[in-house]
This record gives sequence, C-alpha cells and structure tokens, in this order.
Amino acid sequence: MTHPHPHPHPHPHPHPHPHPHPLIDWNRAQPAPLALWHLIHSNFKIARNLGIYNHRVIAGTHTLSHHAEGRALDIGLLVARPGEKLLGDQLFEIFIDSASVLGVDEIIWNHQISSASHPAVHHYHGQNPHIDHIHVGFTRAGSQNTAFPPVFLIRIAQLRTGLEDLTQPFVARGNSVVV
Ligand SMILES: [Zn+2]
Repeated sequence: MTHPHPHPHPHPHPHPHPHPHPLIDWNRAQPAPLALWHLIHSNFKIARNLGIYNHRVIAGTHTLSHHAEGRALDIGLLVARPGEKLLGDQLFEIFIDSASVLGVDEIIWNHQISSASHPAVHHYHGQNPHIDHIHVGFTRAGSQNTAFPPVFLIRIAQLRTGLEDLTQPFVARGNSVVV
C-alpha cells in the first residue's frame, strides 16, 4: 500500500533559516545603506564610504554588528577636521530626527549614540569612539528600503546649500587671491 500524499515530509528543511525574511541574502550590502551612501556621496563629496557589509563583531564584544547583515553604513568624516566635524554633527542630528521614518535603530558619532531603545543622545561606551565616521544602522525591515521620504531628502538638501562649501577654498571676487 502506497502513501496517497506525494510529499510525505511536511518539514523538508531540518534547519530552518533563523531570520524572519528567508528570501533576503543578509551576506551582502542591503538596499537602504546603499541608497543612503548614494545620497550622501551625491551631496557631500568630502564624506568617505568606510563600508556597509562586513561580517564582524562589534569591537571589544562578541556581538555581531549590523554590518554583519549588511544593514549599516559607515560615513567617513574626521572629528579632527573642523569642516568635517561640522558636517558630521549636522548629519548626526538629521539622522536622529529622521530615525523612525528611515527605519534606523542605531546612530553613533563622536562618543555619542542614539538608539531605538534609548533615543535621547547619550555617551557611547563602546571600544571604538567613532571619531572618524558616523555609523548608521538600519533595522532589518528598514534596511530593505530603496528610497527615502521627502522630509529627509529636504533636510539633506538644506544642509548641502551651505556647510559643504565652507570646506572649499574661497576665491574672493575682484582679485586673484585664493585663501
Ligand atoms: Zn558601523
């Protein structure tokens, strides 16, 4: 006597994938941090891309970083350079204000952190002080966004209209002196 059902094993995968989105490849850069880098690079040429996907733990811990799932962007800016610190401070503020609409749950910059569980800016006690980059970590859901809301794009555009130009050499009109 044969079994009437053609698929006698209802659970063919003995080790189900632990993530809630089994079709997403978490071993690569996710759409949102890629889109954020495109936006930042388009607006602020002095910012550097210090990475998205990197299978590693948070420095000094055994906890996997958001980077291990490709859902964080490190924006290279140096606190030691006044123009870059100014830009970094403003971006930090915009990211915090926009965290919920962006699906961002962790922002770290210059010894400070804002997180979904503790949004008010507070001291970051991690081993890496983040004085050479802003870390922007997305939730798993937020990391799948491919575009950002207008309210965030406008904040970035407003920032571009002045601050980045302060880092460029100033050419005074009417003479040839380059400061
Ligand atoms: Zn990072």
